[in-house]
Amino acid sequence: MGRKFFVGGNWKCNGTIEEVKKIVETLNAGQVPSPDVVEVVVSPPFVFLPIVKSLLRPEFHVAAQNCWVKKGGAFTGEVSAEMLVNLDIPWVILGHSERRALLGESNEFVGDKVAYALSKGLKVIACIGETLEQREAGSTMDVVATQTKAIAERISDWSNVVLAYEPVWPIGTGKVATPAQAQEVHVELRKWLHANVSPEVAASIRIIYGGSVSGANCNELAANPDVDGFLVGGASLKVMMSTIPLGVW
Ligand code: PEP
Repeated sequence: MGRKFFVGGNWKCNGTIEEVKKIVETLNAGQVPSPDVVEVVVSPPFVFLPIVKSLLRPEFHVAAQNCWVKKGGAFTGEVSAEMLVNLDIPWVILGHSERRALLGESNEFVGDKVAYALSKGLKVIACIGETLEQREAGSTMDVVATQTKAIAERISDWSNVVLAYEPVWPIGTGKVATPAQAQEVHVELRKWLHANVSPEVAASIRIIYGGSVSGANCNELAANPDVDGFLVGGASLKVMMSTIPLGVW
């Protein structure tokens, strides 16, 4: 069976209630292929999750941008997987490079989070990707394989995982990986999964690309057979100011 195209919008730490409502209004009015063809998931900051969920058209879904690594309790400032499940939030983004770099989330910690979130019934957008220095040193594949391995060592069922290849150097910079660069890493990741997880997972998992995706470059990127969608940061917020980059859909 083919892999359903996946488009995620990561709003990061942005927005006011008015702006968020405006984005949702624009999204709801957008012309999007049927949910049988494209899965659309938007990820507002935690505080806006309930309102966004309540206002979005029903075929669009929401994702949290993070959750705690284990059962909630005395962890000030954290939000648990159980809470997300309780609010019927189906998805969570884990391992985003901003959290890895700025908050020191290690591969193992991200792997533990992925395993815990899945065990609670959440679906996970698991982010991996190399820095510019790592790419220039020729270690891109080692880096993403090590990040993926930390997840693979902790989970056995990949059916609720979308793997987001998000090289760090194009995130928020306007530099986009070329379609060939994205395709190359996606293919290598599939080979890694084939050899280290299973041929079934390698064939069925959606590997999406993130890093300065916009209406202007998405069609070219999406034309690659191993690019199964996008995680869009900055451009997913542009609707605040103008219109949805329709090409993304
Ligand atoms: C992201 O942060 O997930 C992302 C891809 O950001 P941008 O599209 O702004 O590069």
